[in-house]
Order: sequence, then structure tokens, then C-alpha cells
Amino acid sequence: MTIVEQSPFPIGQLTRRPTRGARVVWDTKQVQIGGGAPVVVQSMTNTDTADPIATAIQVKELAQAGSEMVRITVNTPEAAKEVPAIREQLDRMGVSVPLVGDFHYNGHKLLTQFPECAQALSKYRINPGNMGGGKKRDDNFAQMIEVACRYEKPVRIGVNWGSLDHELMARMMDDNSRRSVPWDASAVMREALVVSAITNAARAEELGLAGDAIILSCKVSHVQDLISVYRNLSARCDYPLHLGLTEAGMGSKGIVASTAALSVLLQEGIGDTIRISLTPEPGGDRTREVIVAQEILQTMGLRAFTPMVVACPGCGRTSSTYFQELADSIQSYLRRQMPVWKAQYPGVESMNVAVMGCVVNGPGESVMPTLVSACRAPERSRQPPFLSMGSAALP
Ligand code: SF4
Repeated sequence: MTIVEQSPFPIGQLTRRPTRGARVVWDTKQVQIGGGAPVVVQSMTNTDTADPIATAIQVKELAQAGSEMVRITVNTPEAAKEVPAIREQLDRMGVSVPLVGDFHYNGHKLLTQFPECAQALSKYRINPGNMGGGKKRDDNFAQMIEVACRYEKPVRIGVNWGSLDHELMARMMDDNSRRSVPWDASAVMREALVVSAITNAARAEELGLAGDAIILSCKVSHVQDLISVYRNLSARCDYPLHLGLTEAGMGSKGIVASTAALSVLLQEGIGDTIRISLTPEPGGDRTREVIVAQEILQTMGLRAFTPMVVACPGCGRTSSTYFQELADSIQSYLRRQMPVWKAQYPGVESMNVAVMGCVVNGPGESVMPTLVSACRAPERSRQPPFLSMGSAALP
């Protein structure tokens, strides 16, 4: 066989789609979404916002796990009343993260009746499908945008297939029935999601909201729908986009579905902030969604958050759980140390650590900039592992 000489074949370029940049400001700090900024990791609490202590504690946990924005639901007057207290509690605890208010149905009332809540939040999420119908809907939307303009807050116009504007959908279904070859209902739904997001963004601009204070999202719960909707949305506007597969589910199903959808879009440069909508196990840790979001971005080479642990799956050469325990404890240790190491050792988050069940692939891993630990055979002897360091292992 003749091997034809090739030129080097490149890996994906990961060129980001150009967008406007929206600034989310709190205290004297800011995080930028889009406009060339790194993809922002965000999360959402599941506490009752009317309980300021429980909510502040969970916001702190999410921020410490690496969430760069935290969304809280603001659904009742009791919740809106406590938002300033949550902000103050976070400031007292030294938790520096912006709060995003999630509004449905009554956001226009809460934002106008509780101006301190409107001020304490750094960004509002508005769902145009949950604001009533007809003129009432237009007035409610205008009222929320007017508050955003008054306090100079950016807004995410977050459309969701489960709460899509009924009137828009009905109108588009009627129009579709008059087509010579009607689209199928799911194609009309996808188009309605995009149209709803874009037309509401245009309306917000007409009402005076700056074009660089708008972020869009169109969330659906099926992977192929999400990819199709965001490809279309990104081709039709230059607003920064919030990516997430809604109702992704629990455990490995939720992680796999979110990763499958978001990876395709991020690879195409689409997406400026991400949230992973995992259902926690009963009593499970809410911070899991932050770690998954970070791992998606880091494994794709888009950002670095914590040293990545590469571990082999093990095989017949491994005869105990020693290397699994080693991999697990190293991974936990690295994540625990990051708040301190990040300040002490700039660049440490880009380090790789490989934990191998035996020396078979250890030398290969050490060619890369990696700290390698490989168990010696016979592994059950628990001899100290073989250690090797790639040439650029440490920054
Ligand atoms: S590194 Fe060794 S133990 Fe791990 S899968 Fe490969 S051969 Fe098996």
C-alpha cells in the first residue's frame, strides 16, 4: 500500500458569529454577552425567591461553582420585595455575581410596583408568550421595556416553545394553510419562535431600548429543533444569543441532550451565553448544571475553567478500583483548589492531568502538555504510580 503524503489537516476553527455586545452591570463590575466576549456560563436557582436567605445561599453556591450570572424567579410581590435583600446579602457575603430576574405573566406589575427590585436586578428575562393577548399584551410588554430603559438594564427576550404567543402561532398556521404546499406544523412552530423573538426585539428597539441591550433565546426541548431554530435565528439577526435546551431532563439524558445540541451550535460559532437546564436528582446538587456548562465549553476548547482530568476507562489490565479512586479524588481536589489557584497561578485552568489504569498509554499522554499518573502493574499492589510530566504541563 502506498501512503500518499498529505498536508496537515486542521481542526475546527471555532470562529464566533459576530454579534452586538450586551453589558450586564452590577456594582462597579460587568460581564459582556456577545460582541466577541467569551461564552458566558449562567444558571438558575430553584429556591423560593421570597426566602432571601435560602436564595442568597444558593446563588452563592452557583457563583462559587463558576456561574457568571444567576437567574432567580420573580413571580410574586413577596418575591419582588425580597430581591434587594438578596442583593444586599450577596454583597455582604462578598459574592460578586449579577442577578437576572425571570418574569412571566405579571412582570409589568412587579417591575413597576417594586422599583427597588427593578434596580437590584442586573438584567430582565421577558417571555413575550406569557404577557396576555392583543392590546393588553402590547401594553404589558411596553411597560416592562420602559422600566428596562429607565434603569438601563439589558433584557433577554426569551421565547419558549411551551409558551409561544398563541395569537402569532394561530395567524401563522392560517397563513400556512394558504400556501400551495403547506409546511408541516413543526416547521411553522420553528418559524413562529424565530419570528416572535425578532419582532419583539424590533418592538423593544422602537420603544427606546438600545439594540445592544437585547439578548434573544428560542428554547425548545428537542435537539434537532434547537439546532434548526438557532441556525435560522443567527442568520436573521445580530443580537447575542442565549443557548439552552429547555427541559433537558435528568441525569445522563439531560447532560447528553444538552451537550449534543449545544456542541453543534457552538462549533458553528452560534451562542454567547449558555445555561444547562438539568433536572436535579431529589436532594441533588444544583451546581451540577454549572459544571456541565463549563465542561462543554472547556472540552470544545472555547474556554478553560479548571484543569481537565483525562482518565482511561480501565480494562482487564486493571484489577482494582485504585485508579478510579485516584481519578475521582484528583478531579475533586482540582475543582476545590481552583478558587485559590486561579489567583495564585494564572493559566492553571488550562493544565491537563491524565490518570491512566496502567502505563500502556501513559507515554502517549505525556507527549501532550499533561501531568500523567499511570498505575504500575500489577495494579493491585498499590505501588506508587508512574508519574510523568509533558513539556508544557504547568503554566
Ligand atoms: S491505559 Fe491501560 S488500563 Fe487503561 S484502558 Fe488502556 S490498557 Fe487498559
